[in-house]
Amino acid sequence: MSRLDSAIRRLEAQRDCLDRAAELVCRLPGPVFEVGLGNGRTYDHLRKRMPERTILVFDRHVAAHPDCIPPAEHLFLGDFRETLPAAAERFRGSAALIHADIGSGDAAASRSLAHALKPAVIRLLAKGGVLVSDQAFDDANLQGEALPAHVAPGRYFLYRSD
Ligand code: SAM
Repeated sequence: MSRLDSAIRRLEAQRDCLDRAAELVCRLPGPVFEVGLGNGRTYDHLRKRMPERTILVFDRHVAAHPDCIPPAEHLFLGDFRETLPAAAERFRGSAALIHADIGSGDAAASRSLAHALKPAVIRLLAKGGVLVSDQAFDDANLQGEALPAHVAPGRYFLYRSD
């Protein structure tokens, strides 16, 4: 597979998992957490799919496309390791959906970041809330959800809080 094919499949998997996650939580109230604003692609997708939801957005800085910058009151800037645990205290048990798109080019550092964020992510999720991520978050509190067709296992991750 060429690098172009691989990039296309990764983006398709991300979009299809976000769409599946939005369906799974359609009857569950609560905000959406976008952990990793980046250039704002997935934030834009989430707000278009779920225009009625409040989307709380986390990143260390704003480097998004100018059309994809969240309102200041929904933006939490700083290291995830600090901002997410603080949010977990404030929004405990309320998140209908968390999208954690936190990976960098360094696979070991990305896994370690996911591991560090797992307690806060679990505290944030509502009962029945959905976590969708580019990283594995295996934990007894999270049940793996079936991936959309055509998404290869391990390409993206989908869980539900029980
Ligand atoms: N979802 C985004 C999109 O569609 O454009 C891409 C997100 S990008 C893969 C990961 C983002 O996480 C980057 O914007 C980076 O600044 C942020 N990030 C990575 N580690 C972080 C950390 N420890 N604290 C805060 N932000 C971090």
